Amino acid sequence: MTVRIGVIGTGMIGQDHIRRLTKVLSGVDVVAVNDIDSSRAASAAPAGAEIFDTPQELIRSDKVDAIVICSWGPAHEEQLLECIAVGKPVFCEKPLVTSEASAMRVMEAEVGYGRRLVQVGFMRRFDADYRRLKAVVDGGTLGAPLMFHSVHRNASVPAGLYTSDMPLNDTLVHDADVSRWLLDDEIAGVEVRLPRRSRQGGELRDPHFVLLHMAGGAIVDVEISVNIAYGYDIRGELSCETGVAALPNRPSPVVSDASGIRQFIPTDWRERFIEAYDQEFREWIVAAGDGTATGPSTWDGYAATLVADAALRAVASGKLEAITMRDKPALYSQSMAQAA
Ligand code: NAP
Repeated sequence: MTVRIGVIGTGMIGQDHIRRLTKVLSGVDVVAVNDIDSSRAASAAPAGAEIFDTPQELIRSDKVDAIVICSWGPAHEEQLLECIAVGKPVFCEKPLVTSEASAMRVMEAEVGYGRRLVQVGFMRRFDADYRRLKAVVDGGTLGAPLMFHSVHRNASVPAGLYTSDMPLNDTLVHDADVSRWLLDDEIAGVEVRLPRRSRQGGELRDPHFVLLHMAGGAIVDVEISVNIAYGYDIRGELSCETGVAALPNRPSPVVSDASGIRQFIPTDWRERFIEAYDQEFREWIVAAGDGTATGPSTWDGYAATLVADAALRAVASGKLEAITMRDKPALYSQSMAQAA
């Protein structure tokens, strides 16, 4: 069966996902495209795909079996609710939504529908290195995880478009999600420390040092540097009772020349996580073909939203900000260890 996909939002990641859905993966066909800018939709659309004027018309079209949302975060809620209303599986780029109230509305709609339809784009869970790291922790040979050191460095972010809140409400969500998944635990509180500001980003508040307090007592520290110039560098090391497990350096040639010995560093997330994005869509296509969703859920998107909100409160207060989660609906009762 070929799953007929409609893509909403044809900016940077929308175009990259259209490329993988049309040129890399099988069992899928991009038949419909929408963007607020119709000329951008037209230039991104694969041959034969229909350009829709509105997300609602695309979602409701009989030609579309499943939807990929790559618009910006504030538009996600309305588009997700529309997909749930018509019972179509939907892959939604992170962030799921941009407020707790909005996440609750999406969750209530999906729970009311009675079947999982939403997968959130937390692609690190599909990365082979993160999966091996998780297998080591879950194997139990190192004892319980006590600390996780997570490093998230971007070479640069678009000046003007990227605001001082975004390291916490747009970037930290990946580290928060992968921490919950690796440690199979919820985040109960967040602290943020602000080191001396980097001159690389002008007035932008950067970098951030974040502490995530897990409900079970483990602590995660996250460095977020979004203008570090040298490359896109993602690191992670778990410190457990009887050993440590870390993400490996990415395989790349070791170049020796008159400047010294060096290895290649990816320039952005598309290069670093290219196989992870492919894999997250492979698994999504299988589930979407069955009319459902697996992988990171609305619950995971809700949890990440609470962390982002708490982190922003922590900047303002300078204190540990507690997180209170609602009871987990049975629809999401699968353990995080199984979700991807
Ligand atoms: P982008 O380049 O700005 O693309 C977003 C596109 O959606 C733009 O063409 C935008 O048009 C359009 N759009 C905005 N509101 C819309 C609406 N209501 N209906 C239809 N189209 C709409 O942004 P991006 O970098 O691709 O990011 C898109 C989403 O992916 C964001 O949520 C972002 O956080 C996420 N993302 C995830 C990852 C990851 O690693 N998983 C990486 C990058 C981005 P205008 O420009 O005219 O507003």
